[in-house]
Amino acid sequence: MIGAPEPLMRLRLRVEQDLFVVRQLGREVAREVGLEQQDQTRLATALSEVGRVVMAGGSGAEVTFAVRQDGVSTAIQVAVECPSPGDGPRWRDELAHVGRLVDKLEVENGETGTVVWMARRLPASVPRLTPDRMDEIRAGLSRHVPSSPVDELHVQNQQLIAALDEVRSQRDELARLNAELEETNRGVMALYHQLSEELEETNRGVVALYAELDDKSEQLASANEAKSRFLANVSHELRAPVTAVIGLSRLLADGASDPLTEEQERQVGLIRSSAGDLLTLVNDLLDLAKAEAGRIEPNWEQVDLRAMFGQLRGTLRPLATRPEVDFRIDEPAVASIRSDEVLLARVLRNLLTNALKFTAEGEVCLTVRAVGADLEFKVIDTGTGIPAELLDRIFEEFYQVPGSKALSGKGTGLGLPYARRLAAILGGALRAESTVGEGSTFTLRLPAS
Ligand code: ADP
Repeated sequence: MIGAPEPLMRLRLRVEQDLFVVRQLGREVAREVGLEQQDQTRLATALSEVGRVVMAGGSGAEVTFAVRQDGVSTAIQVAVECPSPGDGPRWRDELAHVGRLVDKLEVENGETGTVVWMARRLPASVPRLTPDRMDEIRAGLSRHVPSSPVDELHVQNQQLIAALDEVRSQRDELARLNAELEETNRGVMALYHQLSEELEETNRGVVALYAELDDKSEQLASANEAKSRFLANVSHELRAPVTAVIGLSRLLADGASDPLTEEQERQVGLIRSSAGDLLTLVNDLLDLAKAEAGRIEPNWEQVDLRAMFGQLRGTLRPLATRPEVDFRIDEPAVASIRSDEVLLARVLRNLLTNALKFTAEGEVCLTVRAVGADLEFKVIDTGTGIPAELLDRIFEEFYQVPGSKALSGKGTGLGLPYARRLAAILGGALRAESTVGEGSTFTLRLPAS
C-alpha cells in the first residue's frame, strides 16, 4: 500500500541565488530523514540541477519536500512546480542525466504549469518516521539558516573532493581485485598445466602398460600355440609305437605263440596294461591339443537326442557295475538340438564316466531341459563331491583332486579341460557345482538352434 505524501517543508525559488539555498536544504532534509552521505549529495545535486533548468524559464518555482511511507519502504519525494507551462520534452532531455542521481524522476506537463517529481528510497535500516520525528524534522528545518554562497561552494568542493577520493579508492580497489584475479588465474592455469601434465604422464603409462599387456598376450598366445603344436606332434608320433607295443604284447601272450613262463606272462601283462594307459593319455592329449589349436570344426546338424541318450545308456551301462548305484538316463524332455553329434556325445560321455567313477552309491543321472533359447544338460551324481575352492581347478590340464580315488579305471586329468573346450566350440559353456560328501552336478548349456 502506498501512503499519501507527508509534507516536510516548502520553499520558493525566485532568483538564482535561491538555488544555493534549495541545494543546502535538499542536503539537510536528506540528512534528517536518514539518507547516507553520498545519497545526500546526490539528492542535493539533482535538486540544484532541476532548479537550474526550471529557473532558466525565468518564472520561478515552488519546491515541496515530503516523505512517502508505505508498508515496507520509505522514500523522500521532492516536487518542483513551475507556474508557466514548461517545455516538457526539452526538460526531459536536459534532466536525463539527473535521473541517474535519484530512483525516480518525472516531468509532468499540466494546464497550469509543469511539475518535476523526484524520489529517492531510504535505506531499509532507517527506522520508520513517526509523527513526532516528522515534527522534529520540520522544526529543525524551519530553524535552518542558509549559509552564504561561498560557504556552499566550500561544502560543494569538499563533497567533490570526497567523491573524487571515493572514486580513486574504488579504482585502487578495482586494480587490487584485478591483480588478485590475475594471480588466481595464473594459479589456476599453473594447476591446470600441472594436472594436464600429470594426466598425460599417466596416460603415457597406461598406454605403455597396455602395449606391454598386448605383447605378453601375444607371447602367451604363441607359447600356447607352440605347446598345442608340440603336444599334437608328440602324441601323434607316440601313438603308432604305443599301439605297436600293445599289439606285440598281445601276440606274446597269445596262446598260439611259444608258451611263456608264469613270470613272463605276468610281465607281458604289465607291459600291455602300461601301454594301454599310455595310449589313453596319448589319445586324450591329442584330442585336447586339436581342440585348443582350433582344429576342430563342428559338423552342425539336427541331433536326435532320444537316439543319443539311448546310445549313451547302452555304451555306459557296462561301466555302471555297482548295484548300489542307480544309473538313469531317462527319455529326453527335448527331442533335438542343432549341434555336432559326435562332440556333444563326447562331452556327455566324459561327464557320465566321471560321475560313475566317483560315485559309490546313490544315483547317476542325465537330464535335459529347455531354458529360454538354450538347452541345459545336467549330469548329476551322489558321489564324493569336490571341494568348492577346487571347482575351477578341475578344469585345468592334468589336475586331479588330491586324495580323490576313482572307484573304477584311471584318469589322466585331461577329460574336463577337453570337455570344457568342446562346450565352447559348440557355442556354450560347462560349469560344475558340488558339495563334498553329497555329490556333484555338471551343467552343459548350449544354444538350442
Ligand atoms: P580324470 O577324470 O581323467 O582324472 P578329469 O579332467 O575328467 O580327469 O577330472 C579331473 C578331476 O576332477 C578328477 O580327477 C576328479 O578328482 C575330479 N572329478 C571330476 N568329476 C568328478 C565327479 N563327478 N565327482 C567327483 N570328482 C570329480
